[in-house]
Amino acid sequence: MVTIHNHGFPRIGKQRELKFALEKYWHGASTEQALQQTATDLRQQHWQLQSGLDLIPVGDFSLYDQVLDMSFMLGNIPSRVRHLQGSSLDNYFRVARGRATADETTCSCVRAGEMTKWFDTNYHYIVPEFDQATDFSLHAESLLAQIRQARSQNLDIKPVIIGPVTYLWSGKAGDGSNKLDLLDRLLDVYTDLLQALADLGVQWLQIDEPVLVTELATDWQQALKQAYERLSHGTIKILLATYFGDLQDNLTLACGLPVNGLHLDVINAKQEVDKVIAALPEKVILSLGVIDGRNIWKTNLTATLDWLEKIYTRLQDRLWLAPSCSLLHVPVDLDSEQQLDKEISAWLAFAVQKLDELTVLARALNNGRESVSDLLADNAAAIKRRQQSSLVHVAAVKKRVDEVDETMAARRSNYPQRAVIQNKRLQLPLYPTTTIGSFPQTKVIRHARSDYRKHLVSEQQYVETMQQEIARCIREQALLGLDVLVHGEPERNDMVEYFAEQLTGYVFTRYGWVQSYGSRCVKPPIIYGDISRPEAMTVDWILYAQSLTDKPVKGMLTGPVTMLNWSFVRDDQPRSATCMQLALAIRDEVDDLEQAGISIIQIDEAALREGLPLRKKQWHSYLDWAVRAFRISANGVNDETQIHTHMCYSEFNDIIQAIADMDADVITIETSRSNMELLDIFDAFQYPNQIGPGVYDIHSPNTPTVDSIVELMKKATLRIPAQRLWVNPDCGLKTRQWDEVIPALRNMVAASKKLRKSV
Ligand code: GLN
Ligand code: ZN
Repeated sequence: MVTIHNHGFPRIGKQRELKFALEKYWHGASTEQALQQTATDLRQQHWQLQSGLDLIPVGDFSLYDQVLDMSFMLGNIPSRVRHLQGSSLDNYFRVARGRATADETTCSCVRAGEMTKWFDTNYHYIVPEFDQATDFSLHAESLLAQIRQARSQNLDIKPVIIGPVTYLWSGKAGDGSNKLDLLDRLLDVYTDLLQALADLGVQWLQIDEPVLVTELATDWQQALKQAYERLSHGTIKILLATYFGDLQDNLTLACGLPVNGLHLDVINAKQEVDKVIAALPEKVILSLGVIDGRNIWKTNLTATLDWLEKIYTRLQDRLWLAPSCSLLHVPVDLDSEQQLDKEISAWLAFAVQKLDELTVLARALNNGRESVSDLLADNAAAIKRRQQSSLVHVAAVKKRVDEVDETMAARRSNYPQRAVIQNKRLQLPLYPTTTIGSFPQTKVIRHARSDYRKHLVSEQQYVETMQQEIARCIREQALLGLDVLVHGEPERNDMVEYFAEQLTGYVFTRYGWVQSYGSRCVKPPIIYGDISRPEAMTVDWILYAQSLTDKPVKGMLTGPVTMLNWSFVRDDQPRSATCMQLALAIRDEVDDLEQAGISIIQIDEAALREGLPLRKKQWHSYLDWAVRAFRISANGVNDETQIHTHMCYSEFNDIIQAIADMDADVITIETSRSNMELLDIFDAFQYPNQIGPGVYDIHSPNTPTVDSIVELMKKATLRIPAQRLWVNPDCGLKTRQWDEVIPALRNMVAASKKLRKSV
């Protein structure tokens, strides 16, 4: 018999119950008990929804973040909160978000833990903090209680924890010490934990070590050996889980670790399965992640069975099946989506449906395909309809992609020649000032948008309200004396969704929330078909803004790579192919903006870096097509049109060549938080075009001083000639208030004037 199991279930709740319970608690409007009750209820519901599995995960639920839970379970609590009063939950939230509740008096003195992305997902975890002296101790009460609760209901469960090596790997040693020096101490506590679980009668424990899909230096490989040598001494059986990629150079290592089972992400590592079977010791379980835990498409069950049956014949009871990774990364239940196009929704599977698929696969293997023939037939029909649907396949789009040639990716002239022509047209002063695009999204704006969506106001009323906002933005920018203006983006709820709604090939869910961090969720749009842009998306708004001023107003677009990386994408063609379709759609908009006389067009690529593969040796191929897509989107313009791009992060030293290859005339980037450290790279690398290193942090409500901005720009001027520098904030201003934005920009403009004088 094949065994089916799961790594983790989305914990936010079908209706985002956890989000609302958390926020209520943080605002002081509910009690810890009420919050814990919601958590208990949700766990209960989720176990129920998974009751068709042979092993249900426990320990995957979290009030904020499973990595932070691990830190607390291992007694690795930052010293800055240890002495603070309150319950351990208070301290937990202090590390998570800087404060326990709204009336927290000490909040100003607690720094929240750093947040970063969990491998290549859009989920952010709280980075464990280490130093040479870090000590660990076991605090497993919460996990043990959950296990007891589940078992009291006669559920067959399998606790899931993060492995010691991945835990160390995902943390940061503040004092620069070697994290691996802590391994021995850490393993002491893991050993205690395994013992405690064994004492409870737990048979199987899943230990996640996704580090195994990254490039590991020898000492980290060694750490894995050392860790599992020690942990194998207990009586509990260990399922070692890898996911998000294939094993490659770590395959032999992974197969040789003394564990009782190994999980492989078949969505990414199908080609390794034979090798893994050959390398695994005889009695070790092989768990295959055959259902995509990162995307929302139905599995092709027949094709999967065609492949799996042979493996099952060989492995028999040694074969387990699961999703490729935790279902944390997909929405909860497709049944909530009553308004979705019926044809398209027939192609989708969210967490609940994915587990149903798993059950069907198990039944087919255990009892023969006949036992589930109806379900298989339904699935096959849906898969076939999707493959052949004219909603998906649009010949004209495919033809256009086929016809893309390299001349479309290049500007007519190279940068130095363009710069001369653009300078003549734009007549900008030295150290020109601009902003990144959005201005405060006030209540008026949000209400107007939502009323319009609900058809409570007419289109004309809506347009008028937006125009008033645009006019206000232009007026304020003119008063401030900025050089290149923006319309302020009041009509956009989200920089991806706004465009996606106007393109073909996209659908949107109502409840398709996926946790991003803590109580924060995102609702990625779904790309289901070939993409095109039926009509202009931004031209009217930009032209209206431009009609109010003689200064240039930037056309403002989201780039193809960011559109791709922040959507659920098709699995029936490579990401690069979808990206090229997006690029052509954006290119059409760029063309229309240029035709309409707009002289500067900004194409944001906020998420370009996020798409980087986990292994560095694969970066190159991603960057090749991503940069090409950007170039196709941007480079249809004439020399006198200035292309800007924007990126919201500062670590791009390692991709600087790719950034330069994008060949935007101007790039604006985040630098202020790193005190322009980023610019060090320009000592070694001659960045050829213009650059606007963000001079203040828009995430903070504080007003930057004139001197601080001058200081930062002087640092920049040491590396980049003044003729190629711009002065701008770090990112868009939509989350700020007007009374924060005005003084900040006033100082920014003043700083730029000071700089001009000093040249
Ligand atoms: N133009 C967008 C804005 O200003 C860019 C947002 C972003 O980079 N995340 O809001
Ligand atoms: Zn940004």
